[in-house]
Amino acid sequence: MTRDFFPEGAAVAVLIPEPLDRFLDYKAPAGGVFHGAFVEVPLGPRKVIGVVWGAGGRFDPAKLRGILRVIDVPPMRTEMQAFLERAADYTLTPLSLMLRLATRVPGLGTPPAMRKLLRRGKGEPERMTDARRRVLDVLEEYGGAGFAAGELSALAGVSSGVLKGLLEHGALVQVAAPKDAPYPRLDPAFAGKDLSADQRTAATKLREAVRSGVYGTTLLKGVTGSGKTEVYLEAVAEALETGRQALVLLPEIALTVEFLDRVEKRFGARPAEWHSGATQAERRRCWKAVAEGGAQLVVGARSALFLPFRDLGLVVVDEEHDGSYKQEEGVHYHARDMAVLRASLCSAQVVLASATPSLESWANAEAGKYARIDLHERFGTAELPDMGAIDMRTEALEANRWLSPTLVSEVHKRLVAGEQSLLFLNRRGFAPLTLCRACGHQVGCSECDARMVEHRFQKRLICHQCGASKPVPVECPSCGVAGKMAPVGPGVERLAEEAAGLFPDAKIAILSSDLAETARALKARIDDIAAGGADIVIGTQIVAKGHNFPHLTLVGVVDADLGLQGGDLRAAEKSFQLIRQVAGRAGRAEKPGVALLQSYQPEHPVIRAILSGDEEGFWRAEADARRAANVPPYGRMAGIVVSGPDEAAVFDLARYLARNAGALTAIGAHLFGPAPAPVARIRGRFRVRLLVKADKGAALQGALRAWLAGVKLPRNLRVTVDVDPQSFY
Ligand code: ADP
Ligand code: ZN
Repeated sequence: MTRDFFPEGAAVAVLIPEPLDRFLDYKAPAGGVFHGAFVEVPLGPRKVIGVVWGAGGRFDPAKLRGILRVIDVPPMRTEMQAFLERAADYTLTPLSLMLRLATRVPGLGTPPAMRKLLRRGKGEPERMTDARRRVLDVLEEYGGAGFAAGELSALAGVSSGVLKGLLEHGALVQVAAPKDAPYPRLDPAFAGKDLSADQRTAATKLREAVRSGVYGTTLLKGVTGSGKTEVYLEAVAEALETGRQALVLLPEIALTVEFLDRVEKRFGARPAEWHSGATQAERRRCWKAVAEGGAQLVVGARSALFLPFRDLGLVVVDEEHDGSYKQEEGVHYHARDMAVLRASLCSAQVVLASATPSLESWANAEAGKYARIDLHERFGTAELPDMGAIDMRTEALEANRWLSPTLVSEVHKRLVAGEQSLLFLNRRGFAPLTLCRACGHQVGCSECDARMVEHRFQKRLICHQCGASKPVPVECPSCGVAGKMAPVGPGVERLAEEAAGLFPDAKIAILSSDLAETARALKARIDDIAAGGADIVIGTQIVAKGHNFPHLTLVGVVDADLGLQGGDLRAAEKSFQLIRQVAGRAGRAEKPGVALLQSYQPEHPVIRAILSGDEEGFWRAEADARRAANVPPYGRMAGIVVSGPDEAAVFDLARYLARNAGALTAIGAHLFGPAPAPVARIRGRFRVRLLVKADKGAALQGALRAWLAGVKLPRNLRVTVDVDPQSFY
C-alpha cells in the first residue's frame, strides 16, 4: 500500500486524543513523516501523542510548531482511520475522543522496555553447593531460557545471594531481552474435533465465508451446548490458515479464562488477551503484536475492536445479545454494530453467536442482511431441560420466604440423588431495600436517586449506581428510633440464608459478580462448583453465561416476573433471553434437566413463550409489536440526557432544546420530554431525559447534529447523546 509522505517542514494535520473537536497543524520533522504515523507533539506545555491524519495547510508552515518525534510503531492504517471517522459520525462523538479508544494503551510512546535476564554462562562456580546446583539444574531443565532474578530464585528455591555468587564466577550471565515477548504460533491443524453433521455443515459455511475474503455477517444460532464455540473456532482456524487475524469478543472477563483453555486445546497455544483484567504490560504487548501482525488471535472485551489489526479477517461476537456489549459511559457505542462496521471496512467476516439472539440480529437475518445458520441439537446425549411454571398464587409461603414448597421439594430430591440445583435470582446483595419500621423511611444514597442495597458479607449498604457505601444504620437516619431498621425483599445472599435454613447439610455456593475479586478467582469458584463442590448454587445473571455445570439437573428461577416489570421496550426480549439462558444450564451432561419458573402471572405471554419453547413464535410476535410501535429495530431512537448540579438549570436547558427542535421535525422525527430520568440524580447531578423517535430510513444523526450544534452549553451542564439506546435509566 502506498501512503502519503510529508517531507520535513511540510504542514500536517494531527489528531490528538484530547477533548478538542478539530485537527491541529504541525510541521513534519527531520526525515519527514507518513500519513497515519503516531507522533509526539507539543500541546501547550505538555507533550501528547497523536496521529497524522493528512495534509495541514491552513497556516504558514514557518509559524507552526514541529512534531517532536515519530513513534516507532506501525502507522495507523487508513481503514482504521475510516472506521474511527464512521464510528464518530454514527455515535455523534468527537473524532478526537474516538481516537482515544484506539490509543488507550499504556506506554505507547516508550521504546520496548528491556528486562534483565539471567542465563547460564561459560564459567563454573569455585565450589558447588546444593543451592548452586539447584539453580544450574533449573536452567538446564528449561533449555536456553533466561529468567528474571526473582523468577529464578523462586524456581530454584534459593536466595538472591546465591545468584550473586554464581554471577561473580561467570556461571550465570546477565542479558537484556525485550519485555514484549512474541506470542507463540497457533496451529490451525493442532486438534480439531470430529464434528457432528449439523456442526460440520455450519463450520463449512463459515470457513467458505472467511476464505471468500469479502465482508459478510452470519448469525450463528444454537441452543446452549450445541457446539457454537466449536463451530466458530473452525472459522478462526480458516482465518489463521489464510494468514489473517481473528478477534473473538466475549461479554464477560470471567469467561475468558475458560475460553483461553479451549483455544489452547484447539490450536496448541494461548492467544493474545485484551481486557481490563490483563496487566498493563500484557496490554502493551498485545497492542504492538496486533499492529505488527504477530498476534493471530485476540480474545477480548468490546474495546478490542479498536486494536490496530494489520489484517483482520474475522470477528466473532459471542453471546451477541448480551447487554454488556453496549458501552454507556464516555463514548456510547454498541460493540456488535461496531464489529459489523469495522469488518465491512476491511473485508472481514462477522459471526454473531447466541442461543437467544437480539431482536436486531434476528430481524437483520430475516431481512437477508445477515446469513443465518442454526444448530438445532445439543451435542452428544445432552438434552434440553423440561420447563414448567410454579404458580405462586397457589403456594403457601410464610413472610420473608421466597422458595415455594414445590421448588423446595424438587431441590430436596436432587440432594438425595446427589445432583446439583441452581436457584437463580438476578439481584445482588442481601436485600434491595432497607426500611425503618417505625417511620417508613427507606435508606437511599445521598448522591443518587437510588435506594441502597444491603450486602451482608461486606456488612454495608451499597449504592448500585455510584458504588458509595455506608454501614447499615442501627438508628433510623430520619426518625432516630433505634433497632427498627429491616431488610425488605430478597437478594442472592438472603436466598442463601433461607436455603441454609431449609437444607442445613447442603453445601451452598453463591455466584455473584461482587463476591469475586478477580476473573481468575471467579473461574476457580466456577470450576469448584462444576466439579461438584456445591449442592445448591445461588446465582445472579453471571450464571447465565456459558459455564458448564455437568451435575446440574434443576434450575429454579426464583422470580420469573422480575424482568417483566418496568417500561423498557426490551423488557420482554431481555426476560426471554435471560431465563432461556439460565434454564439452559440444566442437563448439560448425561442427566436430563428440569427448569422451574416461580411466577405470579404464569399466563403472561413471555412466560408462556419461554415454557412452550416456541422461539420463532416469540420473535415474530415481538417483531410485530415493535413494528407496530415503530420502535427499534423497525424505527430509530436516540436518548438525550441533560445533567448538572442545579436542577432548575438542567430543566431550563432541556426545555430550550425541546422548543428549538426544528432540525428534528424536518426529518419527521418526534421529540418526547423533557422528563426527569428514571434515576433522576447520579453522583449529585440531576438528570433529565429527552427521547427522539424517527423512521428507520430517516437521517437521524445529521438531524441530531444540526439540532445540538446551535446550543451553547452553560458551565457545569452536560448533554449526552445515546444513539440506539439500550437502557433508559
Ligand atoms: P455452545 O457454545 O453452543 O454453548 P460448546 O461449543 O461450548 O456449545 O459445546 C458444548 C460442549 O460440548 C463443550 O464442552 C464442547 O467441547 C462439547 N462439544 C461440542 N461439539 C463437540 C464435538 N463435535 N466433539 C466433542 N465435543 C464437542
Ligand atoms: Zn449513589
